[in-house]
Amino acid sequence: MSAVVGRFAPTPSGRMHLGNAFAYLLAWLSARSGGGEVVLRMEDLDTQRCTEEFAEGIRQDLRWLGLEWDRETPPQRLRTEAYEAALEKLRKKANVFPCWCTRGSLNLINAPHAADGHPIHPASCRLRTPEERRSMKGAPAWRLEAPDLTIRFTDGVFGPYEENLMTGCGDFVLRRADGVFVYQLAVVVDDGEAGVTQVVRGCDLLSSTPRQLYLCRLLDLPEPAYWHVPMLTDSTGRKLSKRDAAMDLGQLRQRHRPEELIGMLAFRSGLTEREEAISAKELLGEFRWDKLKKDDIVIC
Ligand SMILES: [Zn+2]
Repeated sequence: MSAVVGRFAPTPSGRMHLGNAFAYLLAWLSARSGGGEVVLRMEDLDTQRCTEEFAEGIRQDLRWLGLEWDRETPPQRLRTEAYEAALEKLRKKANVFPCWCTRGSLNLINAPHAADGHPIHPASCRLRTPEERRSMKGAPAWRLEAPDLTIRFTDGVFGPYEENLMTGCGDFVLRRADGVFVYQLAVVVDDGEAGVTQVVRGCDLLSSTPRQLYLCRLLDLPEPAYWHVPMLTDSTGRKLSKRDAAMDLGQLRQRHRPEELIGMLAFRSGLTEREEAISAKELLGEFRWDKLKKDDIVIC
């Protein structure tokens, strides 16, 4: 196995979006420039919205962009046993407790709010007696107690970042009441098993990283290095999303060659000095992380 392992981790719930393509381009450049390999993993925990048809569309879009990968690891919908094993390990090492709180009940309580605006989960839930738990109706979610512990790391783009898990995030869900494991746990288990050493993804996930690093520690998994890359926005500063159909690869492939899209992304993000068509392979020779702008990248 290579020393450097990067990854593409798309959610196959629609066509690939230009913002995803930008993150995959950087993940590919970062891994390949370090002589490393790239693994592909379908993050299809949401089995209602994710389909094999979308997954195949994403594979084709990646190939069209010239972003080859070395191996594809099992999709998350087939990984329940691995996540169950991780949950058992977490139960032994930390306080994993049943929670019957609903989003509505959490919004009603007068609790402090975390950095991303969600209400901090109340300690009263964690302190229920066994008798009280037995009297609760319905299947619980399973939460992990957030300790008074500050997680620090240095993001490759945004620099030093820290969060106190107790005050900045609060107890967080590992498995939902409907049995579905959450992204935080799945991503850590999957990256760990695939030997991923580099996580390159959109900066909207920066604030979730301390939770993932805490899970890595509890599960004795090596901590990957992180690069959170700027978001793409329109000229009014609004972030491009899956709602912008004109920015998905289905539409863009009808109007552009892959070299044009990569050239545009490379120029606007600071990787090249002129806006001209370039292939991913050609861009490899010019790639350096310190060229990347940290601001949102205006696309249209
Ligand atoms: Zn609760």
